[in-house]
Amino acid sequence: MNRKGILVVVSGFSGSGKGTIMKRLLAEYAETYALSISATTRAPRPGEVHGKEYFFVSREEFEEMIRREELIEYARYVDNYYGTPRDYVIRQLEQGRDVILEIEIQGALKVKAAYPDTLLLFVSPPGAEELRRRLVNRGTEEEAVIASRLSRAWQEAQGVENYDYFVINDDLEACVQEVHSIISNEHARVARNHALIENIRTELKSFVKGE
Ligand code: 5GP
Repeated sequence: MNRKGILVVVSGFSGSGKGTIMKRLLAEYAETYALSISATTRAPRPGEVHGKEYFFVSREEFEEMIRREELIEYARYVDNYYGTPRDYVIRQLEQGRDVILEIEIQGALKVKAAYPDTLLLFVSPPGAEELRRRLVNRGTEEEAVIASRLSRAWQEAQGVENYDYFVINDDLEACVQEVHSIISNEHARVARNHALIENIRTELKSFVKGE
């Protein structure tokens, strides 16, 4: 069956563990999902590779991508630009893969405005204290950056009502399976199956005539 992919935006506070969830989802269901790789002007963290976690570009390069309209959306987040290159996303959707964008809330809302059938998921740790602990334990950011990220998390918490699903990341494996179920179930919605339904109706009609 040739089903079209769903565009899925996953947001969550920095430190919510959404990156890890997405990696697990892709490792387990490689044929089902494609993860969009964003462009950013932020510096790579230790271990991050250009073209894998992000396309790391200069501010000038990023602004050039904006001018050429190569991005579906972009946003500023804690002093850096982040944006989603369009081509890859569209190609993967056409090939039937569910494409996951792991982006923050301003970007999520822009994607939803441009593509209204986007599915929006929000991932949260069980509580704020746990969030702070995860950011500190990650050990890749300075105290001032952690403070900005926590303050940004507070702002983002005000926008959660715009999302379709809210998922708590307490147990990683359970959370991966929950996200997978939500996306799989989404394919069964009547609104996403109009062509198939129309097809079956037409076939049924021919039987009725032949009665
Ligand atoms: P980090 O610097 O921790 O990798 O990402 C910071 C924030 O930027 C995260 O909330 C992440 O989801 C978001 N982000 C990553 N890529 C994009 C993008 O292409 N567009 C937007 N709007 N946000 C992004």
